[in-house]
Amino acid sequence: MSHVFPRHTKNIPPIAVGGEGCYLIDTNGKQYLDASGGAAVSCLGHGDIDVTIAIKDQLDKVAFAHTGFLSSEPAEKLASLLIEHAPKPLDKVYFVSGGSEAVESAIKLARQYHLENGEPDRKHLIARRQSYHGNTLGALAAGGNAWRRAQFDPLLINVSHIAPCYEYIGRNDGETAHQYGQRMAQELEDEIIRLGPGTVLAFMAEPVVGATMGAVPAVDGYFKRIREICDKYGVLLILDEVMCGMGRTGSLFAADIDGVAPDILCIAKGLGAGYQPIGAMLCSDKIFAAIENGSGFFQHGHTYIGHPVATAAGLAVVNALLDRDLITRVQEQGAKLKQMLENIFGQHPYIGDIRGRGLFLGMEFVSDRDAKTPFDPSLALGAKMKKTAFENGLICYPMSGTRDGKLGDHMLLAPPFILDNNHMDELVEKLGKTFDAVLPR
Ligand code: PMP
Repeated sequence: MSHVFPRHTKNIPPIAVGGEGCYLIDTNGKQYLDASGGAAVSCLGHGDIDVTIAIKDQLDKVAFAHTGFLSSEPAEKLASLLIEHAPKPLDKVYFVSGGSEAVESAIKLARQYHLENGEPDRKHLIARRQSYHGNTLGALAAGGNAWRRAQFDPLLINVSHIAPCYEYIGRNDGETAHQYGQRMAQELEDEIIRLGPGTVLAFMAEPVVGATMGAVPAVDGYFKRIREICDKYGVLLILDEVMCGMGRTGSLFAADIDGVAPDILCIAKGLGAGYQPIGAMLCSDKIFAAIENGSGFFQHGHTYIGHPVATAAGLAVVNALLDRDLITRVQEQGAKLKQMLENIFGQHPYIGDIRGRGLFLGMEFVSDRDAKTPFDPSLALGAKMKKTAFENGLICYPMSGTRDGKLGDHMLLAPPFILDNNHMDELVEKLGKTFDAVLPR
């Protein structure tokens, strides 16, 4: 009998005992093609020897040094490497243990920045509906996923939510993609004005939305307009690249593709590629300078920030992404996989949209393609797809409709960057089997 607290109490998962490349292996020797990298984590696949050696080497040197006393060589090197490739003017890196911690840190840093600048009235955060920023209370409050928030609502800080940039559902007939993006960005300005311009501390968004909609990039020009609006009102722009960053969308930082630089940027997942729990918050020189020239102390911290072994893993991962030219591979394999999905499922009566960037691809399931009607959430299509795919030896990441029925059913694919053509064949074949078994006939 297991004493591990499982996520679904009636659904005890098998035990993973091995991992090789794109596959995970359980105690029965069954192999699973990891087509979602867990949840967009395992970008290098399983069993990467360089990362494993880097971790072992660091353990031989020093396993832990509390950053209240000492920094570590891998933390220094990883921070420099990230800043070398990050959108300018990002200049400093604050290491944490995962995505939610990165988001919490970002919210608190934004607040402290305004305090240091003598603007204590800036206390409102604006984010977007149908977004996910993590499961700790601050990050959950920032997220707009009604189902995830529902039980904890009374405990959450007050965050305003505007509409996401969700072209498939939101663009009106006769409206160009650009016009749609500008209209959605305008919601931010309207909300800042409604709240009172001097009271807003930051706007937070995922460049490519992941865990609530299965890979939805914004339309061209949306984030540029968002950046202008933030600048006009002194509102900080926080981009959450926890899921879509670290090469996943075909660029080391997803914001690069949108041509914007945030004031604060959050990464995690692919940074450790699953070899260690690590995340990071990057901030601009302006923000760091406000603290440095003000109180001189960021009023925040966790025991494991800048962990030497976690940062050693992160350093090996980023070096692997760059040295092995894996980001070009993401662009090439991502384009191929998307084309295959479109060729095979593009006319499927219950698949309304196939979208995404790089190896961060999503599908949306609808009961009526013309009306884009979501399936009834009580059908629990997502749970059924996950189970059926798993039985067929495929790990994919379906997201089911929320209780208010508004989100519909989506599927996220985020395979390791080492995915080859045979893996792709296996992936689409197993997906097809899953759809045949679960979607109505
Ligand atoms: N932000 C985004 C965009 C995410 O997708 C996630 C995790 N799915 C998080 C934050 C939270 O990260 P973690 O689960 O590592 O706390």
